[in-house]
Amino acid sequence: MNSVSRCLTLFLVVLATGCSVNPVTGNKELSLMSAEQEVMQGEKLYDDYQQQQGGKYVVDPELTFYVNGVGQKLARVSDRPDLPYEFVVLNNSVPNAWALPGGKIAINRGLITLLEDEAQLAAVLGHEIVHAAARHSARQMTRATLLNVGLMAAGLAAQSTDYGDWIMAGAGVGANAWQAHYGRDQELEADKFGVQYMVEAGYDPQGAVELQETFVKLSESQQRGFMENLFASHPPSAARVERNRELAAANPGGTRNKNAFQSAIRQLKRDEAAYKSHEQALAAAQKNDFAGALSLTEKAIQQQPKEGLFFVTKGQLKMAQKDDAAALQAFQQASKLNPEYYLGYLGAGLMQKNAGQNSAASQSLKTSMKLLETPIAAYHLGEIALASGDRNAARSYFEFAAQGSGEIAEAAKAQLNKLAQG
Ligand SMILES: [Zn+2]
Repeated sequence: MNSVSRCLTLFLVVLATGCSVNPVTGNKELSLMSAEQEVMQGEKLYDDYQQQQGGKYVVDPELTFYVNGVGQKLARVSDRPDLPYEFVVLNNSVPNAWALPGGKIAINRGLITLLEDEAQLAAVLGHEIVHAAARHSARQMTRATLLNVGLMAAGLAAQSTDYGDWIMAGAGVGANAWQAHYGRDQELEADKFGVQYMVEAGYDPQGAVELQETFVKLSESQQRGFMENLFASHPPSAARVERNRELAAANPGGTRNKNAFQSAIRQLKRDEAAYKSHEQALAAAQKNDFAGALSLTEKAIQQQPKEGLFFVTKGQLKMAQKDDAAALQAFQQASKLNPEYYLGYLGAGLMQKNAGQNSAASQSLKTSMKLLETPIAAYHLGEIALASGDRNAARSYFEFAAQGSGEIAEAAKAQLNKLAQG
């Protein structure tokens, strides 16, 4: 398509779905996305974002069941009860929560442990429901779409790390939180309607006041660096506390469900020490103290042997120490504990390939690609395909790997050049 007709098409799309009424506020605004596109977009990104941020928290599946129940209760009284809402708990220590278009919402276990009761949890989820229902993130994507049509090709959002940095991918799990960057007006809107949903679902809106107070307190403490992600997407302020206080005062009373909440997070609380050891291990690894990191990881495993993430870190550390056999074993244990998370398969595939076990490696890498497409898995699948003489398969793997930047992309480009010449 030439640029004129592309522009025209874009223009027509704007005309077709352009002026929509915001379903929460009733205001008219520009949106390139129809409701169907919005749901599809959210669904497409939801799995990738979860994988990139530690995957689902599976040590205690009851917790996700509970959180989803609270979320659905709020969603039913929202302005768009018809969206296919979903609420997951992510295996990530960073206090954060986010929403994608179409009602796809996530909350990190690192935020849940900061809360005291169900009303506070409802405040977080109600706030995120507004971001989704009022198309806040959709509007943001509309801006991105206008800037670079077509750049949202599959996989571009899912670029993992290069081979050299890959050891630290586990540490990245902490740092890599999705930041939505909403505007101040959108934050106030989310607070306001979030409190309204809380009240309609029977919760004490005081929970929203306390939540903001907790955030303000944390933003003033030394924990600040740790909290950066949450504050970047939902900046706390005394003004927001004040506004929530007014909204709560107008609607006093409601349930807190403290006992139900405390019993739902019992396992998380019990494992706090284990996750603390793991975070210390990641900090040690970042300073290249692999021996120290390893002993802290072993400690975390002793404290909670069912946590697959600890075995991923162990595998990465063994890999850094060039102990491929021990690394492979750890990665396989990680996948056994959490079969829906990509990193264990990816690590196992790399170790199997190093050992010359190409068919096992191919299987592991393909499983990791099904969960999250990464340039590094694609590159090594390309090499395996090339070794077996399948030049076409090799080419398409290298083409995918070449889309990124850095070591892996350069290596993939070199392979493509060789293929073009031969
Ligand atoms: Zn927000």
